[in-house]
Amino acid sequence: MAATAASPAVGSSSLSFLRSKRSSRALQPRMAVRSASAVTQILTKLQKDCATPLPILRHVADAMANDMRAGLAFDGGSDLKMILSYVDSLRTGVDFVRFGGDERDEKGLFYALDLRGTNFRVLRVQLGGQERRVIATESEQVPIPQELMCATSEELFDFIASGLAKFVEKKGGEFCLLPGRKRELGFTFSFPVKQTSIDSGILINWTKGFAVSGTPGRDVVACLNEAMRRQGLDMQVSALVNDAVGTLAGARYWDDDVMVAVILGTGTNACYVERTDAIPKMAASNSQSGTTIVNTEWGAFSTGLPLTEFDEEMDAESINPGEQIFEKTISGMYLGEIVRRVLLRMTETGSLFGSSIPEKLQTPFSLRTPHICSMHQERSSDLEAVGSVLYNEAGVDSDTEAREIVLEVCDTIVKRGGRLAGAGIVGILEKMEEDTKGRIFGKRTVVAMDGGLYENYPEYRKYLQDAVMELLGPELSEKVVMEHSKDGSGIGAALLAAANSKYRHST
Ligand code: ADP
Ligand code: MG
Repeated sequence: MAATAASPAVGSSSLSFLRSKRSSRALQPRMAVRSASAVTQILTKLQKDCATPLPILRHVADAMANDMRAGLAFDGGSDLKMILSYVDSLRTGVDFVRFGGDERDEKGLFYALDLRGTNFRVLRVQLGGQERRVIATESEQVPIPQELMCATSEELFDFIASGLAKFVEKKGGEFCLLPGRKRELGFTFSFPVKQTSIDSGILINWTKGFAVSGTPGRDVVACLNEAMRRQGLDMQVSALVNDAVGTLAGARYWDDDVMVAVILGTGTNACYVERTDAIPKMAASNSQSGTTIVNTEWGAFSTGLPLTEFDEEMDAESINPGEQIFEKTISGMYLGEIVRRVLLRMTETGSLFGSSIPEKLQTPFSLRTPHICSMHQERSSDLEAVGSVLYNEAGVDSDTEAREIVLEVCDTIVKRGGRLAGAGIVGILEKMEEDTKGRIFGKRTVVAMDGGLYENYPEYRKYLQDAVMELLGPELSEKVVMEHSKDGSGIGAALLAAANSKYRHST
């Protein structure tokens, strides 16, 4: 650090990412007021603090596996809640998704509701049984107004139920309810829930910026059922499904090799197929297949992560300090905000963008992950697109040097995020393999991936895959397939509603 502090200009050693993208070019500060050494010092320290060489990845993967075991031992045993999904409890589970039996004979119209971070999605699917499988699907997305994220539970659920009612009213040619049946819904709820059965669960706490009063401690299925009743909507929740669990169930309907599902969107989570006899905290299981899906809630993981002062400050000012540290390091809600904090510091102490510090740059979450992503795509030599994002979103004027530094910061934060996510995935795979040799490695294993961050950020995806490859080596990683399962959780939830239909045993 001392060496770089003395360096008069931005050190080229810290610009590896740009060097690989553009011809190397000396960086000469144009703005007299910029303190290149102060900026370099921050950048160099950031890169050092965020570094994820193989030993750190290894440590994170091992810690993930250990924390999984501890969370499976008893409730509260680790940061990882390792929530049982109740999928495949008796024959009302997803045995048709081939956990035990081999039935894909569900028929009829089923609905799904996915309460996500920034929006909710409604979906209907017409199932045609084993032969025809999915006949038709239709979905709609509704943004959740910012103010509802801090409203009362009734207000939030009424808004959702009314959106659902509007969707149901729309006629669709291929969609029809079997005679005499009530509409049934799979409810995907992407927040930590203590599930008490396949169709009930208590909200433990909100995450991803939600702070709705009155829901924690309540059964979210009851909250939704009551709101649907208030809206005059004749529908019942047949399955409560975590979004990662829904993604796994949806992907596995088509592909038996799916063993893990990972969501990387506003927040993050992962789930996997576990043997019931490897779950000490599970009461005597009457599972027929001997397996179930465990929802890790890995966003709460925190062991051995390479963190910076910027992460610590962001966490301290968040609505859930000390919680969801992995999520705050790798997920879409936070990557842009970490970058903003670094740029603000570089401006305050090194006048990165000149002497003024615009209010936008000082505003938390003004710079969001999609902005970081669009800057990261820049290929032109003067970085004009970076400049306009910075101007529009952070209110700053920038010269080429400043833009290059901004790109370095983005790359540093995104690289750390993607690589740590990859290490987490390897931790899960290794835990499964250690319990049952040959279960994961040496055969094709699919990790179903979904979420807006994974879907839209190619550099993030690349870093994630690099880490998996580095950790597993070329031979093992070749058979680990990361498959984008776009919006799989909606179909998965509808399938689980069908598998758990109240009419299941009447034909
Ligand atoms: P949610 O996680 O809110 O349920 P999504 O899975 O659609 O919903 O993810 C949305 C998140 O994905 C956004 O909050 C953002 O962080 C990230 N995201 C969306 N678009 C992009 C993009 N173009 N580049 C990078 N990240 C994106
Ligand atoms: Mg989501």
